[in-house]
Amino acid sequence: MDVVTKNRLFRDAPLWVLASHNAGKIKEIADLVAPFSITVKGAGEMGLEEPEETEKTFSGNALLKARTAAKASGAVALADDSGLEVSALGGEPGVYSARWAGPEKDFRLAMETVEAKLAASGSTDRSARFVCVLALVHPDGAELVFEGEVKGDLVWPPRGDQGFGYDPVFVARGETRTFAEMGAAEKKALSHRAAAFRKLTDAVLGT
Ligand code: IMP
Repeated sequence: MDVVTKNRLFRDAPLWVLASHNAGKIKEIADLVAPFSITVKGAGEMGLEEPEETEKTFSGNALLKARTAAKASGAVALADDSGLEVSALGGEPGVYSARWAGPEKDFRLAMETVEAKLAASGSTDRSARFVCVLALVHPDGAELVFEGEVKGDLVWPPRGDQGFGYDPVFVARGETRTFAEMGAAEKKALSHRAAAFRKLTDAVLGT
């Protein structure tokens, strides 16, 4: 199957299931595909369970979630996986970004852990990147993967109270404020998630 035919297979599907229980993400994607005759439903609405993220890469986890949802629903499924990769820590926390915050989802703890490990590494390299991988899986087996990134540097102490996760310690290349010091619209224009979605919409919805 050529690339254009494959991309159209997704655009022409009547329903996309989003393999997430996050209402914000579902709304964002519904808005994105609004000009097309695609309905977006969340995994919760379809009665689907979220599989455990057992893979060691972002694309592995995104594909795992999308394949599970496509199989269970018989519809096209879209899943994402994202996280922070710190160069001096060999890419950690990576796919474990959420898990470093512990069961209480304490991101102050997660940021402190990154900072302590950076200090222990003895490295002066504070570069890092946020990565987002999107996986689209068709119930007939066709699969597409898109990756977006934003490069930057880590600061300490954390600054700003907007955003989520590691936003208070991340300054994108060319910026002076952390993601947590920016408004949502400004962050969205720079973010790894927006970059991945741009690739998806160009390839699939632009055909
Ligand atoms: P996921 O929900 O499995 O993709 O885990 C993503 C985790 O990576 C989040 O819990 C955050 O810790 C981190 N992360 C991903 N994107 C961002 C972002 O834009 N800002 C801050 N942290 C992020």
